[in-house]
Amino acid sequence: MQKAIIEKAKQLLADGTVNRVIGWKKGGFAYDITPAIFETAEEIDAEFVYDDFTAANVSKYLIKESRKDGKILAFLKPCDTYSLNQLTKEHRVNRDNIYVVGIPGGPKLDVEKIKAKGITGILSIKNENYTLKIETLYGEETMPFYEAICSKCESCKSKKHVTYDELIGEDGDILESNRFDMVEQLENMTAQERYDFWRAQLSKCIRCNACRNVCPACTCEKCVFDNDNSGIANKAAADSFEENMFHIIRAFHVAGRCTDCGECSRVCPQNIPLHLLNRKFIKDINSLYGEYQAGEDTTSKAPLNDYNMDDCEASIVHERGAE
Ligand code: SF4
Ligand code: SF4
Ligand code: SF4
Repeated sequence: MQKAIIEKAKQLLADGTVNRVIGWKKGGFAYDITPAIFETAEEIDAEFVYDDFTAANVSKYLIKESRKDGKILAFLKPCDTYSLNQLTKEHRVNRDNIYVVGIPGGPKLDVEKIKAKGITGILSIKNENYTLKIETLYGEETMPFYEAICSKCESCKSKKHVTYDELIGEDGDILESNRFDMVEQLENMTAQERYDFWRAQLSKCIRCNACRNVCPACTCEKCVFDNDNSGIANKAAADSFEENMFHIIRAFHVAGRCTDCGECSRVCPQNIPLHLLNRKFIKDINSLYGEYQAGEDTTSKAPLNDYNMDDCEASIVHERGAE
């Protein structure tokens, strides 16, 4: 797939369809693949990477990039196209300045799942028939590919691209996803058990802001958490109230707009399963206002921005919360 993507990027640069490409290049480690802009075929030949670790969704970068002169080429996996559609709907990107080539989705790998097996000093990782051969400073290790996939790929909701200008490969289908299973498990806990679960998770947060910075729904030009007068800007939480507040406020801010892209959990250095909080909101919105998938299209009204006579009453939501 890397070869086909690189050829397509060079072709679209050469024929003038685009004047730059957003893709990925290697970071400090072989598994540390990071988004990057390429302006020439030489740069692409030298550094462009697309492999099992290319999980990063480049949609958010298009907010700034699509405001520059000329078209930019973006390679988007199916899940990434939902993010771009949502950004288009919210007028956060100039879709006319973006040329989207849809590429097949994952599953993609998460190096944290490899490290969680006690494998350290990683030098290289090869996928041989879905067995990972991991060369480390201390010798070679192996583990099954599917035990190391990103949590967002474990519960993929769609292999279908919802926006593109052209595709590499065949388009897929919307999937029967198991993504609400864990939310249901949390719902079935007692209030105390649920509180203890979230406290155990959120107390690990170091307020690095990576979850907010990567989130395609967090696009405010001035974020509430960057307000110097708030007393909470860019600092580690002082107590459990602040720890909870950051996450609950962010979840409310993206409610109805979160496409469940899974990037927040993927980038969290503390491995906090943030997607479960956002999925709870998605599940509740589905049950209160009817099935809705943010980013599926660019025209529908989001349930929380819309009103009709069949909407549930606020009192019903309140009673439900008191259960
Ligand atoms: S990415 Fe993780 S550690 Fe960083 S602010 Fe978000 S939840 Fe906290
Ligand atoms: S809250 Fe998380 S899952 Fe939702 S859009 Fe933002 S990064 Fe993606
Ligand atoms: S946390 Fe809230 S205010 Fe900050 S960028 Fe996200 S949506 Fe905007």
